Formats: sequence, structure tokens, C-alpha cells
Amino acid sequence: MYPSRFRYEAPRSIAEAIALLREGGDDAKVLAGGQSLVPLMKLRFASPELIVDINNLPGLDYHREDPDGTIRIGALCRHADLERSALLKARQPVMAAAAPLIADPIVRNRGTLVGSLCHADPQGDWASVVTALGGFVVARGPGGRRTIPIADFVTGPFQNALAPDEIAVEAIIPAPKGALAGGYLKLERRVGDFATVGVAVATESSGGKVTRAGIALTGVGGSTINATAAAEALVGQPLSAESIRQAADLAAEAARPRTDHRGSAEYKRHMVRTFVVRILSRGDGGEAAAGNGGEAGAGNGSEAGAGGGTQNSAGNGTADGGAERAA
Ligand SMILES: Cc1cc2nc3c(=O)[nH]c(=O)nc-3n(C[C@H](O)[C@H](O)[C@H](O)COP(=O)(O)OP(=O)(O)OC[C@H]3O[C@@H](n4cnc5c(N)ncnc54)[C@H](O)[C@@H]3O)c2cc1C
Repeated sequence: MYPSRFRYEAPRSIAEAIALLREGGDDAKVLAGGQSLVPLMKLRFASPELIVDINNLPGLDYHREDPDGTIRIGALCRHADLERSALLKARQPVMAAAAPLIADPIVRNRGTLVGSLCHADPQGDWASVVTALGGFVVARGPGGRRTIPIADFVTGPFQNALAPDEIAVEAIIPAPKGALAGGYLKLERRVGDFATVGVAVATESSGGKVTRAGIALTGVGGSTINATAAAEALVGQPLSAESIRQAADLAAEAARPRTDHRGSAEYKRHMVRTFVVRILSRGDGGEAAAGNGGEAGAGNGSEAGAGGGTQNSAGNGTADGGAERAA
């Protein structure tokens, strides 16, 4: 199907883009990678009258680290840039784990992390990762710049906190205050598919204790789930078999999965529990609990090391014939 007719503008400055969005109001849409918006337009689930293509805006294709360890990702930084990033491999294990698991190489070449946050798909992987890391989105509009915590940015399925005349220009991952560990695990029916279940876990530790934790879930509810009680169960003590088990149980409780063609609600809940245990058991300080990984029960013993290169462990027999990809 072809999209409905629309006016197309490709501004060369943020000010021009904001003015166009202001003019278009609710009938205008920003186009970044187009990997979610264009399919929706072709299916006529979205019929914007004005498309404001931001791909000509200068200086938004970066991802970089500030001197204090804060990581900034510009609105035109592609999934593929993050997949290949030496910075993330060295400094940000949770993002490095997730980047190769977004869609397929074609989508990764065009799609953007910021676009994914704006799209707010409950099955979007980046929203969980940024939530677990306590990140922010920076918006620019006629009134200037504002920084929105990710928990307030995603307001529901396919809904975000942006005003119609605001552009998300950057995502921010705050500097960790201790040693950062964690990862992202995703169960998908086939390589390149959206998550049946995705789990992002981030911990910061110092003095042998977890000082901050974040756990967020993809694909098991009406929007990204911030499993705060599960994360809190880890804080203030060393990572142990008991604290990991408690966090995993609480994360499974926080999930709101539905039975569908991808698996039963119970199976998805089980996978949430399993992934929390796996990520925490292989991270720094999790060695003592490593035996817990065996409770996974999915029968797919192959697993990549923490923060290491991508491993596609397809074919390792999950209940619905799905594949787990781990990094
Ligand atoms: C076949 C296929 C498989 C996919 N699989 C996955 C997957 O496994 N996991 C996953 O997470 N995603 C997946 N995606 C989605 C993909 O990651 C998209 O790239 C992402 O959701 C949106 O990023 P984009 O830059 O392409 O945004 P666009 O499609 O350009 O925009 C998406 C929405 O966000 C808004 N928007 C975008 N950027 C901005 C901005 N800077 N400011 C304000 N509003 C903005 C747009 O107006 C639009 O409403 C898949 C897509 C396809 C086509």
C-alpha cells in the first residue's frame, strides 16, 4: 500500500525544523531513520500531513562520552553506529549487549536510538536499556531545551512526552557512580524479530555492595516496564544468590505478559526470571551465584560472556522454537 499524500520538508537547522513542526501541529511528524514511521504510513496506520525529515540537521549523528563518564547519543546516531562502537564495548556493557540485537542489519543501518525511544513501542529494545540505566531524553522546542527522565518520557504504548513542536535531540546515559555491570538478553522467534521477552539489567557497585540497580522489561506489557522493586532488592548489599533470586522473582511479578502466538504468559514470565538470573550471575560479583544459571530451564545452555561479542544462539530449543540472542 502507498502512504496518504503528505508534504515533505527537509530543514537544515533545528530552529527551522521546530518552526515547521509548530506550523504542522498535530498533523506533523518527525522523520529520523524511518524504520518505524514509514511502515506505519505505508499501512496507513499513520497519515501525517507534514513530514519533517531531520536527516539534514547538522551535528546530531554523534555518540560520545563526556569527561565525567556521561554518554550522549545524538538523534541521528544509528543503531549500527552503536553496534560498532568501541566506546560502548569499553564503557557501557548494557548498551553494547543490546545494539546488535535490534532488528536486522538493514534496519540498524538507518534506525536511530532516539527514534526508537520516541516511537515508544512496548517491544522496542532501547527503551528498556535506557530505563535500566536511568537515562534521559533531551527535547528542543520553541521554549528551549528540556531534559526528561526516560520514565516520564515514555507515557504509554506508542506515546511520549514530547509536545507536537518538540524534537528529541539527544539521549543521555548518566555516568555510573561505581563499577558498572549488566547486560541485555532477548528472546525472539527468529533473528531480526521483535522481542518475545527482553530484559535489561544494570548494576553499579562500590565497596563490594550494589549502590544502584535498574531492571527493565521489553515485550511483556503494554509499555516498557520499569521493574523498580526488583532493582531495589539488589541495592545496599553484595550481589548474592539470594538477592539475585529475589530480584528475578520480583521482575517476573512486575511483568504483564499476554498469551499469544509467541508463547504463553507463564512462559514469558519464566523467561523474565531466567534472564535476570543469567545477567546477574555472570556479571561482576555474581560469580558466587553462577550456579543459579542452571535454573533457567529453557534448555539452551549456550551463553555469551558478560559484555562480550555478539552471540546468536539460535536453534537452542526454547519452548516456542524461538532463539535467544545474547551479547
Ligand atoms: C523489520 C523491522 C524490524 C524491527 N525490529 C526491531 C527490534 O527488534 N527491536 C527494536 O527495538 N526495534 C525494531 N524495529 C524498529 C526500529 O528499531 C526503528 O529504527 C525504531 O523504532 C525507530 O527509529 P527510527 O529512527 O527509524 O524512527 P522513525 O521511524 O523515523 O520514527 C519513529 C517515530 O518516532 C518519531 N521520532 C523519531 N525521531 C524523533 C526525534 N528525534 N524527535 C521527535 N520524534 C521523533 C517519529 O515522528 C515517529 O513517530 C524494527 C523495524 C523494522 C522495520
